Amino acid sequence: MITFKEVSKRYKTGRQWVDAVKPTSLHIEKGHIQGIIGFSGAGKSTLLRMANLLEQPTAGEVYIDGQELTGLSTGELREARRSIGMIFQHYNLLSNETCAANVEFVLKAAKLPSRERKKRVEECLEIVGLAEKARQYPAQLSGGQKQRVAIARALANNPKVLLCDEPTSALDPVTTLSILEFLEKINREFQVTIMLVTHEIQVAKRLCSRVAVMENGAITEQLDMSLPAVKP
Ligand code: ADP
Ligand code: ADP
Repeated sequence: MITFKEVSKRYKTGRQWVDAVKPTSLHIEKGHIQGIIGFSGAGKSTLLRMANLLEQPTAGEVYIDGQELTGLSTGELREARRSIGMIFQHYNLLSNETCAANVEFVLKAAKLPSRERKKRVEECLEIVGLAEKARQYPAQLSGGQKQRVAIARALANNPKVLLCDEPTSALDPVTTLSILEFLEKINREFQVTIMLVTHEIQVAKRLCSRVAVMENGAITEQLDMSLPAVKP
């Protein structure tokens, strides 16, 4: 479902070059929850952000559901990205918009008619158990609730893939567990393939069917967690 083929990223800062990701190949099968773990600076986030070309690879190819993203035009990429949801450590919600408007925003971008938008916003907030917070603003919510709104937004366009960049790193252990349970539910009920970057080994152990270890811009190990991709 997600394939990185000899993908690399080199940054230039001043006169210094940094190989954030060295040529890396990784195949994530449909229905799996693939964790990427490693220390800060290992290249995890850069690799994840290349999955939807938030970060343009220096070389290599990225495929989502068989479609090569690296060869697409701007318009085609915008279209392809609708099937790729993403959540972040700091939620990235629009602070001056309500929860409902935050979710509706991506549906407007997808040009969904107004009535269908309202219905889908309700459904998505329902999935994350926040229907009653629809009219509230992000500042009125706890961290865990904000992340649930971000999950609702990521789900709005029925993605095949969900990219998670340190989704629980700003949360306490109890809230972390509840977010992991929502991610598991999304994987199981909607067959969304998940790629999750974390520096928290416990998070990877709890959720992932496979875990790749990144060090110095390279995957050094790929661990099979011997768990079914979808737990009963
Ligand atoms: P991780 O997510 O594992 O913490 P990152 O992918 O964020 O690692 O970063 C990998 C390396 O690339 C680090 O050395 C980081 O400083 C560097 N890096 C990341 N983003 C940029 C950028 N926009 N410009 C320059 N260097 C960057
Ligand atoms: P999935 O992994 O869920 O079956 P994909 O859409 O990622 O779905 O891939 C469909 C098929 O195409 C898979 O058998 C995969 O191995 C193959 N494939 C995907 N990307 C590449 C690639 N870059 N090079 C060769 N084969 C690829």
